[in-house]
Amino acid sequence: MGKLHHKIIVVTGAGDGIGKAASLTYAKEGADVVLVGRTRSKLERVNDEIRRTTQTDPTIVPFDLKNLDDTTANEFRARFEDQFERIDGLLHNASVLGPKVPIETYPTDAWLDVMQVNVTAPFLLTKALLPLLKKPTYASIVFTSSGVGLKGRAYWGAYAVSKFATEGMTEVLADELADTTGIRVNSLNPGGTRTSMRASAFPAEDPMSLPTPEDHMPLYVYLMSDESIGVGGEKFNPSSWQPG
Ligand code: NAP
Repeated sequence: MGKLHHKIIVVTGAGDGIGKAASLTYAKEGADVVLVGRTRSKLERVNDEIRRTTQTDPTIVPFDLKNLDDTTANEFRARFEDQFERIDGLLHNASVLGPKVPIETYPTDAWLDVMQVNVTAPFLLTKALLPLLKKPTYASIVFTSSGVGLKGRAYWGAYAVSKFATEGMTEVLADELADTTGIRVNSLNPGGTRTSMRASAFPAEDPMSLPTPEDHMPLYVYLMSDESIGVGGEKFNPSSWQPG
């Protein structure tokens, strides 16, 4: 039996990169995964692979998080309530990089898009899904951070600022939920990883010098599994985490 047997886990940005690897891994560990992402064809490929290789029952939710507001977030809750009645895990993974330019010339529309996808959408989704996350005795929310969310660097603009906000949201929510619910909230900075986002950010870098998303999966599973019950308000990074 897998470490996530019968858990229902929502993953955003599930069609590619780290979110794809997490979705496939969670399903292999027995979870029914809800795959949220903006490109339907990518989600369908992940869905097909999960159905081919596991006995679990994934659901795809093609949706551009740029368009998430209270109304659409509450529609998700209503749909999930009908389908599952509870949610055991929520991995906020989807993010956009935005332009790498100085603040002085940063385009305002791009700034707002990055903040919407990276900060406001996780806030809205969390708020809407909290009633379902409170249904099981224990649940886990994981926010995805970055090194530039702990130490700002030139030209990382809205992306860096959004990751500082992600760390802040993790701390506030973890503290709010710690004593009154069984929901644990943590942030995870995967560090440099072989994905298309990393290639856009560092075009001259040799991707083969980087760990793959699959290399990080023991930590992603740990945070969703019962092994991490009682662990909250912490910052995780695969390079400094030791299993067990
Ligand atoms: P990625 O390869 O670009 O994958 C991101 C996924 O998010 C894609 O499937 C993308 O959909 C989806 N997505 C983006 N915008 C979306 C939107 N508006 N609505 C719905 N889905 C959307 O990125 P990654 O490298 O796997 O990054 C995953 C997470 O790790 C991010 O939060 C990132 O900030 C963080 N991170 C990554 C690294 C790294 O080195 N890779 C380092 C530190 C932190 P499409 O496939 O349709 O584009």
